[in-house]
Amino acid sequence: VPIRYLQLAIICFVLLIDYNYSAAKVDSITVNQIVKTTLQHQTGYQLLAELCALGYRLSGSESSLRAINWAKNKLQTIGCDTVWLQSVQVPHWERGDTEDAQIVNSSKFENKRLNIASLGGSIGTADAGITGKILEVNSFENLLKLKSQAQDKIIFFNQAFNQGFLNTFQAYGVAVKQRTQGAIAAAKVGAIGSIVRSVTSKYDNVPHVGMMSYEEGIKQIPSASIGVIDADFLSKALIEDPNLKVTIKLSCRNLRDTESFNVIGEIRGVEFPKQVILVGGHFDAWDKGDGAHDDGAGCIQAMEVLHLFRYLNIQPKHTIRCVLFIDEEQKQTGAKTYANYALSTKENHLAAIESDRGAFSPRGFTIDSDSSTIEHIQDWLPFLKSAGIDWVRKGSSGADVSKIKTAKARIGYVPDDQRYFDFHHSENDVFASINAREMELGTAAMAILTYLLDKYGLNEK
Ligand SMILES: [Zn+2]
Repeated sequence: VPIRYLQLAIICFVLLIDYNYSAAKVDSITVNQIVKTTLQHQTGYQLLAELCALGYRLSGSESSLRAINWAKNKLQTIGCDTVWLQSVQVPHWERGDTEDAQIVNSSKFENKRLNIASLGGSIGTADAGITGKILEVNSFENLLKLKSQAQDKIIFFNQAFNQGFLNTFQAYGVAVKQRTQGAIAAAKVGAIGSIVRSVTSKYDNVPHVGMMSYEEGIKQIPSASIGVIDADFLSKALIEDPNLKVTIKLSCRNLRDTESFNVIGEIRGVEFPKQVILVGGHFDAWDKGDGAHDDGAGCIQAMEVLHLFRYLNIQPKHTIRCVLFIDEEQKQTGAKTYANYALSTKENHLAAIESDRGAFSPRGFTIDSDSSTIEHIQDWLPFLKSAGIDWVRKGSSGADVSKIKTAKARIGYVPDDQRYFDFHHSENDVFASINAREMELGTAAMAILTYLLDKYGLNEK
């Protein structure tokens, strides 16, 4: 080999190293700025306080529309190039004022009140309520075995949240079926109503709500959740007095679908404006509590990613878009509307990141994409660790962004999960339960990932 080729090769090699070195240096400066800014300023935490003060954000409610306008204004204030509302037809369910359960027909427990709450989508009862004997079961199989006793009774689904799992989402996934499918199974065996043990990791008497379903052709019966302490009480009372009855009164009702909106704000990319990196959360929340963890915090984190780009003067190459999806909790009409829009435009979604697991300390990112894309993102772990991210692995993303099938990568932000179901879908999920630093680190983690996705894309490994 002529010596000058060798020299040339060495020079190129040194230049390449130098280039990589200085790029990495710029990146680490930016990453540190992101982490410092979020932790010191805590602007996301303050925004969440404002949002939580606006009232509940149940899809179709008046207070949810107020909050939607608030978010639109905030996205304008933080310096988005474009902010718009995307019209969505959403289900409109109302809790009403009455949710009451009382033991009757029992010498020992007469008039004892039970802490219950209507489940989302449930029909209400007549003013006099429904009254029936209780059939307690701990599984659907158990219910089928006892079906000859189920006629005209209220089925009490009392399967406990399994505390033995390390990952609380696993326990939730198992127990939540009695909430979502219980009323169908109960109606099939002739029951007049169902009570479901709250699906929560916390031992308290707060009913945890959430969506329940009906099935075409199966009678619709009222369905409510019951606080865990009262669930245990009722279970013991039934041993002493199997003939006790419970009267349940619910004034919830399903109204006609109504118009609501996804809130969308973006910073246009200077090189690839038609390539989108999406960050988002779902804007609706159950009407118990503030929806602070689920998913007010996730929405604010997504908004704050854009805010950080503006504040730190980072000009993105791709379009960075914040989408606050309406109606994740009931029928995901917001996500479906957006996914259809994504199919119909000439834009490409490079990546879509969702935060919807509470405002807790960062742990990782789960990625729904091919393995080379996941490996590419894993290379950024040294930077992501600055915000406390320990791992990046294959996994499902989020209920909303998972519908954007055209995105090259759908990504879920995964914080620590030990406390999430203490708060989830209940009056425990209030602003006071948020830790500012943990929430801000989540923002930082998402911002760092967005910054690296924008700078390096997903094509070259
Ligand atoms: Zn959620």
